[in-house]
Amino acid sequence: MMALDDIPVTQLKGVGNALAEKLGKLGIASLQDLLFHLPHRYEDRTRITAMGSLRIGDVAVVEGEVMKTDIVMGRRRSLQVTLKDHSGFVSLRFFHFNAAQKNQFADGTQVRCFGEVRAGRSGYELYHPEYQTHPTPMADEGSATLTPVYPLTEGIQQPRVRALCQQAVAYLKRYPIYDWLPPWVLVDYQLPTITAAVELVHSPPASASVAQLLEGRHPAQERLVMEELLAHQLSLLQVREQIQTRQALPLLPQGDLSERFLESLPFRLTGAQRQVLQEIRQDLTQPLPMLRLVQGDVGSGKTVVAALAALQAISAGTQVALMAPTEILAEQHYQNFCAWLAPLGIQLTWLTGKVKGKARAQAMAALSSGAAGIAIGTHALFQNDVAFDRLALVIIDEQHRFGVHQRLALREKGAAGALAPHQLIMTATPIPRTLAMSAYADLDTSVIDELPPGRKPIETIVVPDGRRDDVVERVRNACQAGRQAYWVCTLIEESEVLQCQAAEVSATELAERLPNLRIGLVHGRLKSQEKAEVMAQFKSGALDLLVATTVIEVGVDVPNASLIIIENPERLGLAQLHQLRGRVGRGEQASYCVLMYHPPLSLNSKARLQALRDSQDGFVIAEKDLELRGPGEVLGTRQTGMMQFRLADFERDQHWIEVVREIAPRLMGNKVAVQGLVRRWLGEKTRYGEV
Ligand code: ADP
Ligand code: MG
Repeated sequence: MMALDDIPVTQLKGVGNALAEKLGKLGIASLQDLLFHLPHRYEDRTRITAMGSLRIGDVAVVEGEVMKTDIVMGRRRSLQVTLKDHSGFVSLRFFHFNAAQKNQFADGTQVRCFGEVRAGRSGYELYHPEYQTHPTPMADEGSATLTPVYPLTEGIQQPRVRALCQQAVAYLKRYPIYDWLPPWVLVDYQLPTITAAVELVHSPPASASVAQLLEGRHPAQERLVMEELLAHQLSLLQVREQIQTRQALPLLPQGDLSERFLESLPFRLTGAQRQVLQEIRQDLTQPLPMLRLVQGDVGSGKTVVAALAALQAISAGTQVALMAPTEILAEQHYQNFCAWLAPLGIQLTWLTGKVKGKARAQAMAALSSGAAGIAIGTHALFQNDVAFDRLALVIIDEQHRFGVHQRLALREKGAAGALAPHQLIMTATPIPRTLAMSAYADLDTSVIDELPPGRKPIETIVVPDGRRDDVVERVRNACQAGRQAYWVCTLIEESEVLQCQAAEVSATELAERLPNLRIGLVHGRLKSQEKAEVMAQFKSGALDLLVATTVIEVGVDVPNASLIIIENPERLGLAQLHQLRGRVGRGEQASYCVLMYHPPLSLNSKARLQALRDSQDGFVIAEKDLELRGPGEVLGTRQTGMMQFRLADFERDQHWIEVVREIAPRLMGNKVAVQGLVRRWLGEKTRYGEV
């Protein structure tokens, strides 16, 4: 039997090759694709608003009679049509128009239009409204319906898409959409069938609750949202399954490397570290690749846990790759790991994109011969020409800096060969639980939910930059008392050049004002050698004050630093600020974080800085971040377009996340259904699966 999948959009009236091509850009080829091009909101055009009661910003239907039509010269030539009704006037303004259009608006013509009210030259105006001359009578209240609004692509107008969808809806009578959800799900959660749901959202009947539809809470919408979240979850489980169809080496440690390492540490592991380590050790002894995410707040001590995981692999005679997102962080890990592991007789290799020539050849040889037990570096570790002898464990640190997409790509690269390596992913940004459940459905999760003992809370102070003098004084006092400080310059994130310049300017200014302090500068445009030197000086105490860009955001660990000044914190996300703040509070002395903002602050910024001042719990902050910024920003995936849903909304639809998490594994057995759902919602190039 034919299905909607098999019917091309060109079957519809008015769809020629040109339009079909444009629709193709939206991923729409078949009628089924079109029907799953869902309205993302509705407009209430059921009532006509009196012109006299319009307010700027209203999106409204108005209707009246043409009083006059003028072509107005000016900076841009425009057509201005003034309408009147019993209560007042409003003008329509068109910057793109033709003679025929002008002639439609003869004086006295009745016009109904819909658009947003702006303050224009002639008073209230609607720019390029949708309009209808000689309008058909409005449906009366009881039979009025909402108007769906669709996502668009260039060259297709809203009314066009709307009309096409209406045509496609008519096909549903003969060609219902296949319902992949098992009947018990529909019964348990009281959901309509997929066909009924799709039809309803494209053409909501007058009987449907307007309030529910506008809020996205109509059962038909709930059904679709749930199915979309389910499809995403299934696609991640597919990735997991795909990886776990491969074997991994069970890593059974020989000898006493771990014990010797633990004895060499100046501290004992916290209970949480031991617990998480236990989970990792258990995974590593399995013949299936470990897929584990370790979440732990800033300073919770993830690095030691990673080192112990690495030791298990090395003592089983295999190799480890440890990757960090930035050179500074990789460098710091390298130093730590050298100090920890070299005394145990383990050879370490350093590899980044900047390692070239002879050094690179040596590194590669150490890895391919198996002489090196562990390689530490940036994503250069996973370039195609890097070959390991027996790579069995891949550790990715601070992975929130990588998007979901990158994470999966990197993991795939690491997984070349007959045996898949075990994978340990560590993230310092605690992710709100619901978000974690969705974004990391392919991973098992461990949480280090305890900080090492003796940490003093960090006092956070929010001040306007008008008090810069006081802040500089504070830096002087702290450093004169033998402490160290960070001064972090932020700028619009996209411009690294500007950011570095800002840091240079600040460093110069601070050097003038604080002539007795030893001041270092580190930013992204320094050579890695230079960066490493400055960091090493700061770490050794040879520098009092480190002026830096946000390159120091992750991982940097200097316990004697007890003061951090962050300029223009309003430009950064909460999670990022929490990370930055986590650079201090690592030693015994009381620590301070000064957020020096540039007034005036927006309400949202004010709320964000307050949240930071009031909490030091990364999870609480992450929840707040999600609330204030939305999931795309929190996960740092806005650019990659991952975790972007057609309908689902993390805030609004949280209640489905746990349900979906429960249902998804039960559906995994039905391969056809999984494929069907994933293709329906994520498209051909099942985005997670094929990276
Ligand atoms: P993060 O989880 O942010 O990566 P790190 O691994 O950098 O944290 O650890 C932060 C600091 O705490 C380091 O100086 C580390 O040596 C120290 N540390 C880790 N575990 C403990 C512990 N159990 N007791 C005391 N200090 C610890
Ligand atoms: Mg770390």
